Amino acid sequence: MRTLITVLIIELTATVIMAQQPPPPVIDMHLHALPANSQGPPPLALCVPFRDIPMRDAKDEWPRVFGAFLKNPQCPDPMWSPTSDEEVMTQTLEILKRRNIIGVASGPLELVRRWRAAAPDRVIPGLMFQLGPQQLSPDAIRDLHERGEIAVLGEVTNQYIGISPSDSAFEPYLALAEQRDIPVGIHIGPGPPGAPYLGTDRYRAALHSPLLLEEALLRHPKLRLYVMHAGWPMIDDLLALLWTHPQVYVDVGVISYALPRAEFDRFLQRIVEAGFSKRVMFGSDQMVWPAAIERAIEAIESAPFLTAAQRRDILYNNAARFLRFSDTEIAKHHGR
Ligand SMILES: [Zn+2]
Repeated sequence: MRTLITVLIIELTATVIMAQQPPPPVIDMHLHALPANSQGPPPLALCVPFRDIPMRDAKDEWPRVFGAFLKNPQCPDPMWSPTSDEEVMTQTLEILKRRNIIGVASGPLELVRRWRAAAPDRVIPGLMFQLGPQQLSPDAIRDLHERGEIAVLGEVTNQYIGISPSDSAFEPYLALAEQRDIPVGIHIGPGPPGAPYLGTDRYRAALHSPLLLEEALLRHPKLRLYVMHAGWPMIDDLLALLWTHPQVYVDVGVISYALPRAEFDRFLQRIVEAGFSKRVMFGSDQMVWPAAIERAIEAIESAPFLTAAQRRDILYNNAARFLRFSDTEIAKHHGR
C-alpha cells in the first residue's frame, strides 16, 4: 500500500512539474505591431494557405478585386482580423505567452513601445524602416538603439519603393548597423499579390532576388543580416547567396502560411537539402491576423522532410545563435 502511495505521489509530482514546464521556446523573427486598419478597413479575412493565387481581369481595378477577396472569404476556415489595435495586441500576446514565443516586433514606434510594455519578456523591439520623406536619419536610429528602444533594424521595406538593398541611399544605415552590431532584416520577396497596383507603384518583381544584397554584404562584412521571406521564389539566387556569404540567414515570413503548402515545402526543402538548415529562422509575418502565427508554426512542425532537430533549429536555435542570446537567456526561455 505504502509503495502504491509512493508511486502515486511520484507520478503526481511529475505531472505537476510537466504542467509547469513551458512548451519548447520559439523565436519569431518577423512579427509586427501594427494598427488594426494597416491592411485596409477591418475586419479582413485571409484564406490561407492560398489555393489559387487571386487574379484579375485586366479591365478591373486590382484594389477593388483584392479588397473583395479580403472581405468575402471563399474558404471554410478564414482568419479574420480583429477590429481594434488593442485586440490585435492582446490576441497576439496571448499566443506568444501560450506558445512560449519571443518575437522581434516592428511597426509604428508607439505601438512597439506599447506591446513591449505589455510583454517585456516576449517582445524584442524592431524598427520598421523605409527610405523616403518620412525616413529616420541614421543619427535618430543610433539614438533609439542607444536608448534600448530598438534592437533590430527591420523590417526594412525599401523593395516597396523600388530601392535595392545595395542602393547608395541605404548605405549610411548599413554602415550604422555594422558599426553598432544591430541585426538587419530586409524584406526580399513577396508583398501582397499585385503590389504595384495596390498603391506601392514602384514595387518590382525583379527586386525579389537576394543577389541584390551582394554588394551591400561585401561592403559590410561584419553585418548581421537576414533575408525576410527568404527571397521567395528565387531559390537559385538564394542558394548562391547563402553559399557565397556564410553569415547570411533567412526567415520564412509570409511564405510559411500564405503560399500553397506544396510550394512552401518544396522551397524550404531545397534550402534545407542544400545544407543551409542552420540558417533558416522562423518568422510569422503576423500583420493583423494573430492566428497566422500558429498556422506558420504548424507549417514547420508538419513539414515531412524536416527532422525533429531541424524543426527546433528553425523554430528557436538558429535565431538564438543569430541574435547572440546568452546561455542564461536560452536557459530562461526553456524554463530552466
Ligand atoms: Zn515583409
